[in-house]
Amino acid sequence: MPSQLAHVFFAIDSIAHALPKDAVKTIMQHRGALGLGAQGPDIFLHNRRSKPSALRYGARLHRADYGSVLADAAVAAYRRGADPLGQTAAYLYGFATHATLDRFLHPYINYCSGWFDRDRPETATLRAMHAFLERLIDTALMRARHGTAPSATPLLEYLDLGAELPESIARALQRGLHAHIPGARTDPELALRVHNAYRDARGYYRWAHHDLTAARRAAARSHGSHEQRMRRLTILHPDAVPVGLDVLNLRRRRWRDPCPDGRTRNESVPQLYRRALDPAAAGVVALYRLLTTPHAAEVSPHRRVVLQSVGNSDLSDHYHRRLRCRKRFSRPLPLRRLLELLYTELSAEHPGL
Ligand SMILES: [Zn+2]
Repeated sequence: MPSQLAHVFFAIDSIAHALPKDAVKTIMQHRGALGLGAQGPDIFLHNRRSKPSALRYGARLHRADYGSVLADAAVAAYRRGADPLGQTAAYLYGFATHATLDRFLHPYINYCSGWFDRDRPETATLRAMHAFLERLIDTALMRARHGTAPSATPLLEYLDLGAELPESIARALQRGLHAHIPGARTDPELALRVHNAYRDARGYYRWAHHDLTAARRAAARSHGSHEQRMRRLTILHPDAVPVGLDVLNLRRRRWRDPCPDGRTRNESVPQLYRRALDPAAAGVVALYRLLTTPHAAEVSPHRRVVLQSVGNSDLSDHYHRRLRCRKRFSRPLPLRRLLELLYTELSAEHPGL
């Protein structure tokens, strides 16, 4: 998953690409819902504290059935009379765009971050580098787009919908999960899990975006092992990307698709991002048509178009394979070294840690 900021930017750009100006203006009044929706199933991955947890649905939605779950969440919202420019709709538009950006950026991110492979213990240090690279990409995109650092930007207004997930959004999500994820169908605690996921995700966003500088310091001096502290640092945005570390690949160096066919590519992150806009906008338009249809009888064909536009393939690449490939190729950037440096700096600011 590209990280919070990339997803928020991409949702904003996608609706601007897809819908008339006035509609975009109204949807932006629900920017919290749009931005939270843009985090897609990542909110489930943040569900590490509250029980029962929805963690399993995070991985599941990244692997399969994303389009079906979204399409039925949208049908449920329609049946409950959702305003096509209102809060629940904004959430669904954002949610649709998450899949597309994930699919377009993941091959590059996986190649440049590497991954932990159980059969190769020497790769243990790569474990959290995927998440760290995503935060670095966020920071670089933020600098390019607004000229600011993450710590100086009010991001919470794009992520926080209050203490509880609004019921209409929760119900739509539950409906989608219930219809397509076998485990969810028989899960008596599904509703509770969805609410818990939001609560934990919100806790994380508030920790990471309310006072980022303080959060970084707290992570560097937190309890647990060195490795645990490093891990906490990987999910906080650094304020700058070191000169010379071209995380956006603006120099267009070659990289390879991590999958066995290993195509050589050289796109930059902004190029991949732009390329993802058309397919993402198609998903938004399809959703908009579904939510604005005056005839309930037409919902079913619209539902199909949403499903086709968003697709059910996994979110690790944009080739829409039937099965997720086994990643082979990578060439990690020196991210671990950067993380160690960051940690040393933070510790030096606070001798006696
Ligand atoms: Zn994701």
